[in-house]
Amino acid sequence: MASIFSKIAAGEIPSYKIAEDDRYFAFLDINPVAEGHTLVIPKREEDYIFDLDDDQYAGLQLFAKRVAKAIKKAMPCKRVGVAVMGLEVPHAHIHLIPITKESDMNFFGGKLQPSPERMKEIAEAIAKEVE
Ligand code: AMP
Repeated sequence: MASIFSKIAAGEIPSYKIAEDDRYFAFLDINPVAEGHTLVIPKREEDYIFDLDDDQYAGLQLFAKRVAKAIKKAMPCKRVGVAVMGLEVPHAHIHLIPITKESDMNFFGGKLQPSPERMKEIAEAIAKEVE
């Protein structure tokens, strides 16, 4: 059965899309730890990121770099932090999180709940900056 992220990449489940190409897809995390928290995934389903073949893995990182640059331009932050966990959703993904201080990257505190309108606004602002 296709993972929830495969369904998102295929457009079968809605998401706040940031960018895509033929192999990768980026969208806002629905429970962000900071505004602009983005997930980057390979469209081809693989559970564990370090099981991706070298070509898929390198491509994912390069795609994430493009998206991170766009996040940095669109969101007020000092850096874009990167995390990989994958304990919840068994489809490889990279978390990109705009941060100004270390505690902005806190997965254990309360998650934000931006309104759908705000999520759409953030996604559009980041998407516009993707080169
Ligand atoms: P993890 O697998 O531990 O890296 O965490 C999975 C992440 O996916 C969490 O931050 C969730 O908030 C996020 N997530 C789960 N379902 C969705 C969804 N339908 N759309 C966007 N983000 C999601």
